[in-house]
Amino acid sequence: MSLYKKKDYLFNSVTTINGVGPKLSKYLKNKKIESINDLLWNIPYDYTDRRKTVELDKLEVGKTLTIKVLVKKYNFPRLRRLPNKINCEDNKGKIDIIFFNSREGYLKKILPLNEWVVISGKINFYNKKYQITNPEYITKISNIDYVAKIVPKYSLTEGLNEKSYRKIIKQVLDNLPEINEWYDDTFIKKMNFLPWKKCILDLHNIKGDKDINSSIYRRLAYDEIFAHLLTLSNNRKVIRINKNKKKKFKKKLAEKIITSLSFTLTKSQVKVCSEIELDLLSHKRMFRIIQGDVGSGKTIVSLIAASMVLESNFQCAFMAPTEILARQHFELAKKIFINTKINIEFLTGKSEYKLKKKILGELKDGSINLIIGTHALFQKKIFFKNLGLIIVDEQHKFGVKQRMNLAKKGGDNCDVLLMSATPIPRTMMMTLYGDMDISKITEKPVNRKKIITLTKPEDKIKELWPYIKKEVASDNQIFWVCPLIDESQFLNYTSVTKRYDVLNKLYPKKVDIIHGSISKEEKISVLKKFLKKKISILVSTTVIEVGIDFPNANLIIIENADKFGLAQLHQLRGRVGRGTKQAICILLFKNTLSKKAIKRLKILKSTDDGFLISEEDMKLRGYGDIIGFQQSGLKYFRIADPVHHEDLFKIAETHIKEVEHDLLKGSKFSFLLKLFDKAEILNEVDSD
Ligand code: ADP
Ligand code: MG
Repeated sequence: MSLYKKKDYLFNSVTTINGVGPKLSKYLKNKKIESINDLLWNIPYDYTDRRKTVELDKLEVGKTLTIKVLVKKYNFPRLRRLPNKINCEDNKGKIDIIFFNSREGYLKKILPLNEWVVISGKINFYNKKYQITNPEYITKISNIDYVAKIVPKYSLTEGLNEKSYRKIIKQVLDNLPEINEWYDDTFIKKMNFLPWKKCILDLHNIKGDKDINSSIYRRLAYDEIFAHLLTLSNNRKVIRINKNKKKKFKKKLAEKIITSLSFTLTKSQVKVCSEIELDLLSHKRMFRIIQGDVGSGKTIVSLIAASMVLESNFQCAFMAPTEILARQHFELAKKIFINTKINIEFLTGKSEYKLKKKILGELKDGSINLIIGTHALFQKKIFFKNLGLIIVDEQHKFGVKQRMNLAKKGGDNCDVLLMSATPIPRTMMMTLYGDMDISKITEKPVNRKKIITLTKPEDKIKELWPYIKKEVASDNQIFWVCPLIDESQFLNYTSVTKRYDVLNKLYPKKVDIIHGSISKEEKISVLKKFLKKKISILVSTTVIEVGIDFPNANLIIIENADKFGLAQLHQLRGRVGRGTKQAICILLFKNTLSKKAIKRLKILKSTDDGFLISEEDMKLRGYGDIIGFQQSGLKYFRIADPVHHEDLFKIAETHIKEVEHDLLKGSKFSFLLKLFDKAEILNEVDSD
């Protein structure tokens, strides 16, 4: 094999491995293993230690053990379908070794009478006797070193057995290519890193080193973090190109808007506005995200940004993830730009054909200045005369690839501004938005009262009824969140259907229900009913998370609160308290809460700082639950962990600044990028 071919070996399909046919590759695919490279990252979760042999009075049923025994007697029945049985013993006891479908001659050869042998297999107990059925290994005493070793255990799905999986992985590890180190010597020395190949081999072989903080683990985690941040840094370069036409404005429109507001902007809002202003005036394209907690007032900031772009005679497109949210922004924009010459339109996938056609025409000839809508804004057939700014709300609903595509779609003169209401820890911020500039809104509007958060055991729910009755009578609106859609016999959680039935009996025609399995249209119509105050209580699953403003809802009740992540609870809680009345959030939980769960609920009660909450959430639940991570298109990290490897993120950040000048493609890092599927992200984005 030439060196080049060998390097590519890892990126071949698993079907190129000897012994992997269509059936096996299908099972592997179920485990998301498609290329040989994928096998490397399916790390053994445990090890079976075969080095110790166990005497026959110390056997444990159900365990896979290794024994050293004397072969005493063959029992080979005449009937073919009965198993062959061989009696064995040591000084302490007896055991039978059972074989189905085996030839006598073969058994006599591997288990010669009156000889000591080593046997490894799972211990059963049947008819008052210990047994091993179809042992995994049998060998002569002289060969004990061959079986008596530590073998890795992999998590496998149906159809894959350990022995054949180990054969596959052995083949792959034997064929691992020699790769030139991609970091320079000084860095390797400073970090105490071992060569890549050695790390991979150790990861699959040696018991002690599967610890997440071991040096081999950290090297591989660093590789992954580095590859990821390098990709983002490249994205950034692709996007932050020079604009060939700069924006020019005197902020007249912006000032007009600001003076007409019924409130004054917070310091944070003012700061973010000026960061955006500098970007718009700069000759480089803007690629910025506003991070701010729910209710921190991001929308108005983005509309002020829009006003500057509109004033310099560029068009602006504003996209939200749902129709109802887009419409709310549309209504707000109409109010804000009243008595100006700005022509605003609304477009979603559901807009009527005729209207759509008209809008498309007016976007092309430039008579529409500001268009607000859903994904529909970025269909292929839509052309702008001179798009100068794209705003995307609730960015965490979209992934890295989508945002790259968006930036491309906008064209060379188009700045990009994203907003996200999910405060996330710093390491996650780098991971998800490392290609962007970040503006943070850290304060909330001063007039906002802190939401009171209460916890209550579920069996005291009765105490709530009088209170709810009062709220409904005084026309206040209530969100009622449950984790499940339907009752489940396996999960002990409350369902929205059950809760809806109970409440609907108490308050007929005043209650409605939404969840993930009702149609989009129905969902929108229920939300509109709630917005228009036609119903008092909205029972729902977490589908109400996204940033709609319901100024009249002051009470949110969340059942089985321990089931949700902290950041998620915080988001849900943010649905109330948008108006002037004191808002309350009641968390119901089971009596039998774990200490950890109690700790989590305490954090939520004690603070409304979303960033702090998300840090704590990540420490307690791991990074996988951070909102936005699943949608980010990154999949999970294969090996790195933002909680345990936080320091590696920081090191990588500086490191990348030093090596950035190395071209990505064809550079010494290209193998590394391929290992973690990053090359694919780049190519896919390129081809769109
Ligand atoms: P989010 O950041 O969650 O998107 P919004 O932009 O929807 O928040 O703002 C929430 C509410 O706060 C809106 O009703 C908005 O008018 C109001 N608001 C925004 N900024 C301020 C401010 N500086 N003072 C008072 N109210 C504000
Ligand atoms: Mg919002």
